[in-house]
Amino acid sequence: MRKFKTESKKLLDLMINSIYTNREIFLRELISNASDAVDKLYFKSLTDKDIQLGKDELAIRVSFDKDARTVTVSDSGIGMTKDELDRNLGTIAHSDSLAFKMDNAEAQGEDVDIIGQFGVGFYSAFMVAKSVRVVSRAYGSDEAWAWESDGVEGYTVEAAERDGHGTDVILTLKDNAGDESYDTFLSEFGLKSLIKRYSNYVRYPVQMEVSKTREKPRPEDADDDYAPEYESYTELDTINSMIPIWKRSKSEVTEEEYHEFYKTDFHDFADPARTFGIHAEGALSYDALLFIPGRAPYDLYSKDFKKGLALYSSNVLIMEKCEELLPDHYNFVRGVVDSQDLTLNISRETLQHNSQLRAIAKKVEKKVTSELKKMRDNDREEYERFFENFGRGLEYGIYSSYGMLKDELAELLLFYSAKQEKLVTLDEYLAAMPEGQKAIYYAAGESIERLAKMPIVKTVLAKGYDVLLCTRDVDEFCFQSMMTYGAAAAGDGEDAPEQFELKNVASGDLDLASEEEKKEAEETAKENEGLFAALKEALGDAVTDVTVSSRLTDAPACITAAGPISLEMERIMAQMPD
Ligand code: ADP
Ligand code: MG
Repeated sequence: MRKFKTESKKLLDLMINSIYTNREIFLRELISNASDAVDKLYFKSLTDKDIQLGKDELAIRVSFDKDARTVTVSDSGIGMTKDELDRNLGTIAHSDSLAFKMDNAEAQGEDVDIIGQFGVGFYSAFMVAKSVRVVSRAYGSDEAWAWESDGVEGYTVEAAERDGHGTDVILTLKDNAGDESYDTFLSEFGLKSLIKRYSNYVRYPVQMEVSKTREKPRPEDADDDYAPEYESYTELDTINSMIPIWKRSKSEVTEEEYHEFYKTDFHDFADPARTFGIHAEGALSYDALLFIPGRAPYDLYSKDFKKGLALYSSNVLIMEKCEELLPDHYNFVRGVVDSQDLTLNISRETLQHNSQLRAIAKKVEKKVTSELKKMRDNDREEYERFFENFGRGLEYGIYSSYGMLKDELAELLLFYSAKQEKLVTLDEYLAAMPEGQKAIYYAAGESIERLAKMPIVKTVLAKGYDVLLCTRDVDEFCFQSMMTYGAAAAGDGEDAPEQFELKNVASGDLDLASEEEKKEAEETAKENEGLFAALKEALGDAVTDVTVSSRLTDAPACITAAGPISLEMERIMAQMPD
């Protein structure tokens, strides 16, 4: 028996138990290694005309034996010699694949996509296996060797048999000890789902013998009462879909295919409202495929909702939901980001440098904004549906950023216009404003119908000014954090756009009355001094004051809030949990 080089016992233990948060990634690591081995042989074949590779040789096989508790990953790749087994699997943190990638960096181009780099992935097998046997035959060699280890003391290498070049990695799983995940690893369904989750876009077929049933052929003399008989059989199926849809050119993919991909990968039954992508090249190259869902997930506004985009590196899933890639106000966006340039941390579960993520996130945010604007301008009906689903989040974004996100988000908002009796943007409100109007007026309450009946709304409308009728709970909070709004389009020029105050018609003095009306009100107040004093006394602490108003059209009286908080906001705040 040979000893691992380096402080291997400790290191291996550390590796196995603390690098990975998720045990099931062992399969991802072994499939990645198999893919690298096939890739290396494929690369060789590109430069060596004598190497003819059959289709079968480029496939990766996964199989299991429930009784023997083994899971096997096989490839017909480049294989390893006795020395290579010793060097590659006997030295922790030695990556031949990384060396290969470096050596061939220039020649590789698009044709090769080596995944390995840290020289630790293989050992993740020991998270689930009590022993690992690797049988390998290097390409061009006629001897096979078997490497075997229990992951504690060391390993052995001895002569073995293998038909053809390639490698079998055979794991004998640990005893269950009541842990159900081991049953998953020893089941067709479990392995299939792990392949699909982590290795769906590995560029070579990952195949499994899958059990199926079929109808037996109908006997020729079958009569009308013949009941069909079934038999089970197994068939080699390719489990992964290989070519990532986001890497295919847009003109080659049908809308149908995009929708199918969205629905299966993001578990939605409805088609997305919008599909769009980013292709970035440069120091940080990446592809992104993004979707705006057609409906809001039921848990969107709950604490359990997790935003994020799937993050892939070299076609292998790194994170299912990378939160850093999406701002909160676009938490509804689904999709994937794929980059070969990410500096991954050793577990390949996260990144070392968040600056890379930040750069991608910034671009994603910009792209979503421009896509929403396009939708708003070109497909209003669909945009209204979108806003119904997700608009609240945009408003919340403005409010929770204390208005900082106003410039980006305010022009995306829609409100019900009392005058035009339809949804309008703030820019449309401004565009329709009559000469002399100094503020944007809104009223907040439970329903459009009730708001439309408010005396003060009628008064403002009577002046020829429009009033936005706000029924979402965040509307008023959003407006309060914005304070003012100026036309977005005007901001593109040299001058800052003229800002208009956002005014709740129900709070404070709107200053709508003409000099004459004011005078009249003053007189009325004087004449009825006694009445107001009596009313005030009768209402006691319930009110701070009783005054004459010039805001009423045909109603005899109305209640207004004294402070900066409107009655509606007070109502919402009272409902909030402490
Ligand atoms: P990495 O993949 O990051 O290099 P691993 O620990 O996963 O690190 O693997 C270590 C090395 O073992 C690889 O670089 C590769 O040279 C070799 N290796 C692992 N699996 C195989 C395989 N199936 N076929 C050929 N070589 C392999
Ligand atoms: Mg590896």
